[in-house]
Amino acid sequence: MNHGVIVPVFLPYAGCKRRCVFCDQHAVSGLYNVPSLDEMESLYDEWSKRGRVCEIAFYGGTITALEKKRLIEYLSWAHSKLGNDGYIRISTRPDEIDEETVSILKEFGVRHVEVGVQSFDNRVLKASNRGHTAEDAERAIRLLKSSGFTVGAHLMIGLPESTPSSELCSAQRLVELKVDTCRIHPTLVFEATPLHRMYEQGLYEPLSLEDAVKRTANLYALLQRFGVKVIRLGLFLESNALTRLAAGPHHPAFGHMVKSRAFYEVSSQLATVNLEIVYSERYESIVSGYKRENIKRWENEGLHISLIPVKKEGILNVNGVDMKWVV
Ligand code: SF4
Repeated sequence: MNHGVIVPVFLPYAGCKRRCVFCDQHAVSGLYNVPSLDEMESLYDEWSKRGRVCEIAFYGGTITALEKKRLIEYLSWAHSKLGNDGYIRISTRPDEIDEETVSILKEFGVRHVEVGVQSFDNRVLKASNRGHTAEDAERAIRLLKSSGFTVGAHLMIGLPESTPSSELCSAQRLVELKVDTCRIHPTLVFEATPLHRMYEQGLYEPLSLEDAVKRTANLYALLQRFGVKVIRLGLFLESNALTRLAAGPHHPAFGHMVKSRAFYEVSSQLATVNLEIVYSERYESIVSGYKRENIKRWENEGLHISLIPVKKEGILNVNGVDMKWVV
């Protein structure tokens, strides 16, 4: 785990050879241009005022699909800022990872590679115009794992043709591939994207917030319980990005809703007629749920609930079973 400041460098659409139907990099980053090295330098200076920089993370676009000269330029800049002990993270597409790229990433000190998997269902990948297959994702993850990187994956909920079971299968695949980290976010419809046109033509229906939370919670529980650390739930959108959002299950408390829903789902499986929950006070909102939804659901189900808050840190037990994986 890194302690210090992380400098995020966003490269909107850099290296992307096609547009995935849902993608609006301008909305999610607020940026229209790929930063020059001078701009990256200013960005670094700005962030370093907050403390010691321990990591540089390249997000957005497909950095490994850039000309090798440009890829090396970015990575050697990051390496020169951080030195050998620094942590460089990149995110990219599965079909833009090969042996040659891997050796460049290693040479310039990249430690963590996040792969945009989105789904392991080829029908979903095709309907989303991803331009790669599930097999590409599996090959990329295996290659990165065997080369010693920390490997992350991105999964999406509610893509065209996606179902709850195909999403669970995708999460299961990540567990089997022993991926280290995962980000999950629901599909959102941004103005002027191909998905927006599909939505307007009645060819795509976004998930309701309720469905998105429930489906994401099921994946979250599976991944967290089997050793894949989920590091992000939902997209963070700045206020100007919200003006580009046409439809879809966006909520600023999405992450909390998912965690507390996952707690509800798994706790309910442990319940007999009694549900005894012993928890550190700081986990109160996870236990009770968003707007106390968990408590209301259990009451409606006729369960006898004993809530036992304790001062001690790090406690979250349901009927004697440790549930700390939720937080
Ligand atoms: S590869 Fe990534 S950045 Fe490029 S269009 Fe698709 S989702 Fe957007």
